[in-house]
Amino acid sequence: MAKVYFLIGGNLGNREQILQNTLNALNKDVGKVLKLSALYETEPWGFEHEQSFLNQVVMIETDLMPENVLNRTQKIEKDLGRIRKKNRYSERTIDIDILLYDDLIVNTERLEIPHPRMAERMFALAPLAEVAPEFIHPVNGKTLLEMKNSCPDTSGVSIFKA
Ligand code: ADP
Ligand code: MG
Repeated sequence: MAKVYFLIGGNLGNREQILQNTLNALNKDVGKVLKLSALYETEPWGFEHEQSFLNQVVMIETDLMPENVLNRTQKIEKDLGRIRKKNRYSERTIDIDILLYDDLIVNTERLEIPHPRMAERMFALAPLAEVAPEFIHPVNGKTLLEMKNSCPDTSGVSIFKA
Protein backbone atom coordinates (compact mmCIF):
# COMPACT_ATOMS: atom_id res chain seq x y z
CA MET A 1 0.00 0.00 0.00
CA ALA A 2 1.22 3.49 -0.86
CA LYS A 3 0.62 6.66 1.13
CA VAL A 4 -0.47 9.49 -1.13
CA TYR A 5 -0.82 13.16 -0.17
CA PHE A 6 -3.35 15.22 -2.10
CA LEU A 7 -4.15 18.91 -2.09
CA ILE A 8 -7.82 19.54 -2.69
CA GLY A 9 -9.41 22.94 -3.00
CA GLY A 10 -11.57 25.42 -4.78
CA ASN A 11 -12.99 28.90 -4.60
CA LEU A 12 -16.48 28.56 -6.05
CA GLY A 13 -19.88 27.50 -4.79
CA ASN A 14 -20.30 25.95 -1.35
CA ARG A 15 -16.61 25.39 -0.76
CA GLU A 16 -16.89 23.31 2.43
CA GLN A 17 -19.57 21.05 0.97
CA ILE A 18 -17.55 20.51 -2.20
CA LEU A 19 -14.46 19.58 -0.16
CA GLN A 20 -16.58 17.12 1.83
CA ASN A 21 -17.97 15.59 -1.38
CA THR A 22 -14.41 15.31 -2.72
CA LEU A 23 -13.25 13.51 0.45
CA ASN A 24 -16.14 11.08 0.22
CA ALA A 25 -15.34 10.34 -3.43
CA LEU A 26 -11.59 9.88 -2.73
CA ASN A 27 -12.38 7.55 0.16
CA LYS A 28 -14.65 5.48 -2.08
CA ASP A 29 -12.66 5.43 -5.34
CA VAL A 30 -8.99 5.91 -4.40
CA GLY A 31 -8.40 4.56 -0.90
CA LYS A 32 -8.93 4.94 2.79
CA VAL A 33 -8.52 8.47 4.14
CA LEU A 34 -6.03 8.30 7.03
CA LYS A 35 -5.15 11.93 7.75
CA LEU A 36 -6.69 15.33 7.15
CA SER A 37 -5.30 18.81 7.66
CA ALA A 38 -7.36 21.73 8.88
CA LEU A 39 -9.14 23.80 6.23
CA TYR A 40 -6.91 26.65 5.06
CA GLU A 41 -8.16 29.83 3.46
CA THR A 42 -6.05 31.75 0.97
CA GLU A 43 -6.90 35.36 0.39
CA PRO A 44 -7.59 36.09 -3.25
CA TRP A 45 -5.21 38.35 -5.07
CA GLY A 46 -5.15 39.75 -8.57
CA PHE A 47 -8.90 39.91 -9.06
CA GLU A 48 -10.87 42.06 -6.73
CA HIS A 49 -14.09 40.06 -6.57
CA GLU A 50 -12.67 36.60 -6.66
CA GLN A 51 -13.78 34.42 -3.75
CA SER A 52 -10.92 33.14 -1.58
CA PHE A 53 -9.77 29.52 -1.86
CA LEU A 54 -10.28 26.80 0.71
CA ASN A 55 -7.62 24.08 0.63
CA GLN A 56 -7.05 20.88 2.54
CA VAL A 57 -4.42 18.15 2.47
CA VAL A 58 -5.58 14.56 2.70
CA MET A 59 -3.45 11.44 3.12
CA ILE A 60 -4.80 8.26 1.61
CA GLU A 61 -3.60 4.69 1.60
CA THR A 62 -4.05 3.07 -1.80
CA ASP A 63 -2.95 0.09 -3.85
CA LEU A 64 -3.44 2.01 -7.12
CA MET A 65 -0.44 2.95 -9.23
CA PRO A 66 0.15 6.72 -9.71
CA GLU A 67 -1.36 6.90 -13.21
CA ASN A 68 -4.49 5.15 -11.96
CA VAL A 69 -4.74 7.51 -9.02
CA LEU A 70 -4.70 10.39 -11.53
CA ASN A 71 -7.38 8.68 -13.66
CA ARG A 72 -9.64 8.42 -10.62
CA THR A 73 -9.02 11.95 -9.37
CA GLN A 74 -9.65 13.42 -12.83
CA LYS A 75 -12.93 11.52 -12.98
CA ILE A 76 -13.89 12.88 -9.56
CA GLU A 77 -13.07 16.43 -10.73
CA LYS A 78 -15.28 15.88 -13.76
CA ASP A 79 -18.16 14.33 -11.81
CA LEU A 80 -18.20 17.17 -9.28
CA GLY A 81 -17.94 19.54 -12.25
CA ARG A 82 -21.18 18.14 -13.64
CA ILE A 83 -22.98 19.01 -10.42
CA ARG A 84 -21.35 22.42 -10.76
CA LYS A 85 -22.78 22.95 -14.23
CA LYS A 86 -26.27 21.88 -13.20
CA ASN A 87 -26.14 24.47 -10.43
CA ARG A 88 -24.72 27.00 -12.87
CA TYR A 89 -21.46 27.52 -11.05
CA SER A 90 -18.56 28.56 -13.19
CA GLU A 91 -15.16 26.98 -13.75
CA ARG A 92 -12.76 25.38 -11.25
CA THR A 93 -15.11 24.14 -8.57
CA ILE A 94 -12.55 21.60 -7.40
CA ASP A 95 -8.89 20.91 -8.12
CA ILE A 96 -7.26 17.69 -6.92
CA ASP A 97 -3.47 17.68 -7.07
CA ILE A 98 -1.22 14.76 -6.19
CA LEU A 99 1.57 16.26 -4.06
CA LEU A 100 3.46 13.12 -2.99
CA TYR A 101 3.22 9.37 -3.56
CA ASP A 102 5.43 7.67 -0.97
CA ASP A 103 8.93 8.79 -1.92
CA LEU A 104 8.39 8.03 -5.59
CA ILE A 105 9.52 10.37 -8.36
CA VAL A 106 7.34 10.40 -11.48
CA ASN A 107 8.02 12.49 -14.59
CA THR A 108 5.69 11.71 -17.46
CA GLU A 109 3.72 13.91 -19.81
CA ARG A 110 0.59 13.53 -17.69
CA LEU A 111 2.05 13.34 -14.27
CA GLU A 112 4.79 14.91 -12.19
CA ILE A 113 5.32 13.76 -8.63
CA PRO A 114 6.30 15.37 -6.30
CA HIS A 115 4.08 18.19 -7.55
CA PRO A 116 6.58 20.60 -9.15
CA ARG A 117 5.02 23.82 -7.85
CA MET A 118 4.45 22.91 -4.21
CA ALA A 119 7.72 24.50 -3.02
CA GLU A 120 6.43 27.94 -4.07
CA ARG A 121 2.89 27.58 -2.74
CA MET A 122 2.19 28.31 0.89
CA PHE A 123 -1.40 27.10 0.43
CA ALA A 124 0.05 23.64 -0.26
CA LEU A 125 2.97 23.65 2.20
CA ALA A 126 1.04 24.95 5.22
CA PRO A 127 -1.49 22.07 5.31
CA LEU A 128 1.11 19.54 4.15
CA ALA A 129 3.59 20.46 6.90
CA GLU A 130 0.72 20.21 9.39
CA VAL A 131 0.01 16.55 8.57
CA ALA A 132 3.57 15.36 7.75
CA PRO A 133 6.19 17.81 9.08
CA GLU A 134 9.05 15.27 9.15
CA PHE A 135 8.37 13.72 5.73
CA ILE A 136 11.43 14.16 3.50
CA HIS A 137 10.86 15.52 0.02
CA PRO A 138 12.39 12.90 -2.29
CA VAL A 139 13.93 15.45 -4.68
CA ASN A 140 15.38 18.22 -2.50
CA GLY A 141 15.95 16.20 0.70
CA LYS A 142 14.30 18.81 2.94
CA THR A 143 11.56 18.02 5.42
CA LEU A 144 8.16 19.49 4.63
CA LEU A 145 8.44 21.71 7.68
CA GLU A 146 11.77 23.06 6.43
CA MET A 147 10.20 23.66 3.03
CA LYS A 148 7.33 25.56 4.61
CA ASN A 149 9.68 27.65 6.74
CA SER A 150 11.78 28.59 3.73
CA CYS A 151 8.86 29.18 1.34
CA PRO A 152 9.08 32.64 -0.27
CA ASP A 153 5.30 32.86 -0.82
CA THR A 154 3.93 35.71 1.30
CA SER A 155 0.25 35.37 0.40
CA GLY A 156 -2.21 35.32 3.26
CA VAL A 157 -2.86 31.70 4.23
CA SER A 158 -4.74 31.14 7.48
CA ILE A 159 -6.62 28.37 9.24
CA PHE A 160 -10.30 28.62 8.34
CA LYS A 161 -11.49 25.70 10.43
CA ALA A 162 -9.34 23.36 12.51
P1 ADP B 1 -3.43 23.00 -12.00
O1 ADP B 1 -3.64 21.93 -10.99
O2 ADP B 1 -1.96 23.22 -12.31
O3 ADP B 1 -4.11 24.30 -11.64
P2 ADP B 1 -5.09 21.33 -13.74
O4 ADP B 1 -5.78 20.82 -12.52
O5 ADP B 1 -5.95 21.78 -14.86
O6 ADP B 1 -4.11 22.53 -13.38
O7 ADP B 1 -4.10 20.18 -14.21
C1 ADP B 1 -3.42 20.25 -15.38
C2 ADP B 1 -2.69 18.92 -15.67
O8 ADP B 1 -1.72 18.65 -14.70
C3 ADP B 1 -3.52 17.66 -15.69
O9 ADP B 1 -3.98 17.39 -16.97
C4 ADP B 1 -2.55 16.56 -15.22
O10 ADP B 1 -2.28 15.61 -16.23
C5 ADP B 1 -1.30 17.33 -14.90
N1 ADP B 1 -0.54 16.91 -13.72
C6 ADP B 1 0.81 16.74 -13.71
N2 ADP B 1 1.24 16.38 -12.50
C7 ADP B 1 0.15 16.34 -11.69
C8 ADP B 1 -0.03 16.03 -10.31
N3 ADP B 1 1.00 15.71 -9.51
N4 ADP B 1 -1.30 16.07 -9.81
C9 ADP B 1 -2.33 16.42 -10.61
N5 ADP B 1 -2.24 16.72 -11.93
C10 ADP B 1 -1.00 16.67 -12.47
MG1 MG C 1 -4.81 20.17 -10.75
